[in-house]
Amino acid sequence: MTLVDALIAQDRAGIAIVADAASASVDELVARGMDPDRAEQLCGAAEVFFGPVRNKAAQAACVAAARDNEHRLDTLAYIARSSRSLDTDTDRWHYRQTLCETQGDMRRVINRAKALKKQLKPPAPRVPKASVTFHDQGWSTVHITGRTTDVLPVYRAANNDPQAWLNDTRSAGDASLTTVLNMDIGDFAQWRMREDGDGEIEVQLTNGEWLTGAQLVNRKLHASGYIALISATDGPVNLYPVRLERHASGKLRALMSADGTTCAWPGCNQPADFSEAHHIKEWAKGGATEIGNMCWLCTYHNRQNGRPKRGRMQRVGGQIMWQSPKGYLSPRGTRHTDPTRRHARLAHTPATGPPG
Ligand SMILES: [Zn+2]
Repeated sequence: MTLVDALIAQDRAGIAIVADAASASVDELVARGMDPDRAEQLCGAAEVFFGPVRNKAAQAACVAAARDNEHRLDTLAYIARSSRSLDTDTDRWHYRQTLCETQGDMRRVINRAKALKKQLKPPAPRVPKASVTFHDQGWSTVHITGRTTDVLPVYRAANNDPQAWLNDTRSAGDASLTTVLNMDIGDFAQWRMREDGDGEIEVQLTNGEWLTGAQLVNRKLHASGYIALISATDGPVNLYPVRLERHASGKLRALMSADGTTCAWPGCNQPADFSEAHHIKEWAKGGATEIGNMCWLCTYHNRQNGRPKRGRMQRVGGQIMWQSPKGYLSPRGTRHTDPTRRHARLAHTPATGPPG
């Protein structure tokens, strides 16, 4: 007998193999050398066709039909698994028995199963909806569901030249941008939170003087009082007067973009606009709503953060990091101490040099 003959014999004896596994657990089968996914497949089928059930007559009819039709293990496991989504015990046994009684290979059983499911559990009617998938490198895909007569003209127009279509149809109000200029505190300056608790900071200059954050920024920008927007290809393009307000709670979100513009969880590309301001130390445990305790997390990762085996966000040395359940740190946000970044920030300081 060749290996192929052995496989054919095995395939024809699917229900006998399932019966043989009825008293074993996944762990036992794995211990005996079986692959875990194969063990789960076998035990899942054994539970349905040989486990304790209320409708013993239907179960016995399934086993007899599976034997008569010589269904193989894959087919029986598919029947067991796909029956779980049905709502009532009656429907589930009707589904299993009909499929076990279906003659032919797994493809025929699956076709019969799909038709049967539509009948037993009609899908919810479609409604118009839109969703978006965020990829890496700033790319995204929009999915829109609607009546074919409405969707088709949109698809034809977009398919022709997707970029032009996106530019022409984007509503002007939606593409708002907040620009945040990062300014360096300075090499030797100390800083602290002000004690009156209004969220303002104080910075100590090398001459010992303490300034509020707003005063420091005012002094640093005093020489010009304007911010020039510079294009890398065309040079200076426009000049704007500096209007300073100390950051209010509404501005915290803008400040958070200095640490990153997407959900900070490893591998997640959800933009900050679609994310939540996450408290690194939980607000309920006294964590403050201030920049040092905040980072972006999408709704999903905000729920996962801190759960067993999921890890959590941290700020270490000024940088946002993801900490694995075993404590391994993975850098996620901007490294503010990066010399090239610091050089760029210091370049925003007027030529008159630091105050003091
Ligand atoms: Zn995320």
